[in-house]
Amino acid sequence: MPRPVPQVETKFRRIVTEIPVPASLETLQKLEQYELRAMGGQPPVVWDRAEGFQVYDAWGNCWLDWSSGVLITNAGHGRQEIVDAIVKQAQHGLLTNYCFPSAIRAELAERLVSLTPEPLKKIFILTTGSETVEFAIKVARTHGQKVGGRGKNVLVSFEKAFHGRTLGSQQVGGIPVLKEWIGNLDPGFVQVPFPDGFWTEDTSFDLFERTLSEKGVAPSQVCGVVMETYQGGTAAFAPVEYIKMLRQWCDGHQALLVFDEVQAGFGRTGKLWGYEHYGVLPDLTTWGKGISSSLPISAIVGRPELMDMHAPGSASSTHTGNPVCCAAALANVDLILKEDLAGNAARVGEVLMDGLRRIQGRFKEAGFLAGKGLVAGLACVDPVHGQPDGKLAHDIVYRAMEKGLLMFNPVGPQGCTIKIAPPLTITAEAVEDGCQVLEESFAEVLAERAGQ
Ligand code: PMP
Repeated sequence: MPRPVPQVETKFRRIVTEIPVPASLETLQKLEQYELRAMGGQPPVVWDRAEGFQVYDAWGNCWLDWSSGVLITNAGHGRQEIVDAIVKQAQHGLLTNYCFPSAIRAELAERLVSLTPEPLKKIFILTTGSETVEFAIKVARTHGQKVGGRGKNVLVSFEKAFHGRTLGSQQVGGIPVLKEWIGNLDPGFVQVPFPDGFWTEDTSFDLFERTLSEKGVAPSQVCGVVMETYQGGTAAFAPVEYIKMLRQWCDGHQALLVFDEVQAGFGRTGKLWGYEHYGVLPDLTTWGKGISSSLPISAIVGRPELMDMHAPGSASSTHTGNPVCCAAALANVDLILKEDLAGNAARVGEVLMDGLRRIQGRFKEAGFLAGKGLVAGLACVDPVHGQPDGKLAHDIVYRAMEKGLLMFNPVGPQGCTIKIAPPLTITAEAVEDGCQVLEESFAEVLAERAGQ
């Protein structure tokens, strides 16, 4: 229910109504009535328009955006260059091309492939991140059969990982509750702990090998290892040494290494590709979200001999490389490179980390801080037992929203991680402002809790 909140009027934020806005309830109720329940759960802000790193509703409120619409708008919301490219392509007179050749899809394929090092030189443009993961599974299993027979079909991935919600991508994921509906889980999907150093203290590569052996999986059965470059739920990276050993292990056992960069790509982590932090190359890498900062498009890139294993006509998806989406992606890539948004993410990311470290130092409930560039996760835990405190994270995100700082509701181990992912165009000043709001929100929610 709407409640009066202190009015806010700063350079980056403006809150001038009760929250949620009473006039927005009609829209919220309509969504609740007609959309499935599973789509719900985000803070009750009805987005009207968004620009740069700010989101506006229709009633005069403005939020500093720390969500990027869940890691989509790397180049900023509503960039004029992207709007112009979309309009130009729409007016040009080609709104769809499916599997038929078009110049704009060819241009995007060439452009995207030019961004990856040898030997990652073939691309399949798709629409969603989940689809790219499904194709990675197909490539890994096809390759496995080719080099090791039908028994080489196990995909190893990581506990707590998220790779999408379709049947295959959900099984590569490592969140058991999301897989309950499947019933007969494919035994060819196996998870090992992610070496984040907090939820899993042991970060040695030995744990990878030991867990596989405990689960009865022989290395010869493994056709691929799929990992988020950083874990979406916590923003944690694996140790570099671990990944170097993983690369060697994959090479030694003819298993493909897949970095899912649906979140980590396009400058988010302070480098164009997140895997650059590890100093290794994957065999396949998947992209989505930040690829266009706007319209639905995704892609998987890999070594030509892997990407070309299937016969002509056997890989397609109706909206593959839709011309308008291609135009948006081309304009987006231009912006990311021209404005060196990966560099900005690295520089401003330092300011973000400083602010978050300050918060972590002040509140013992801020248990685990991880991230690089402009992605970070701050996990709320019970300071005595170290257990996840999802309610605290939830309350803090809600309080911040009331103050004009927008984040999405907690993800990560049992929903206790406050995830921070602003557009990569954000300034140091705006990041400091957001850190201030987050700190105030921690202080207020904890004080109210203590007073209860
Ligand atoms: N992989 C990762 C790492 C993701 O974060 C997501 C989406 N959150 C996906 C895959 C699935 O992408 P989509 O929602 O576009 O299917």
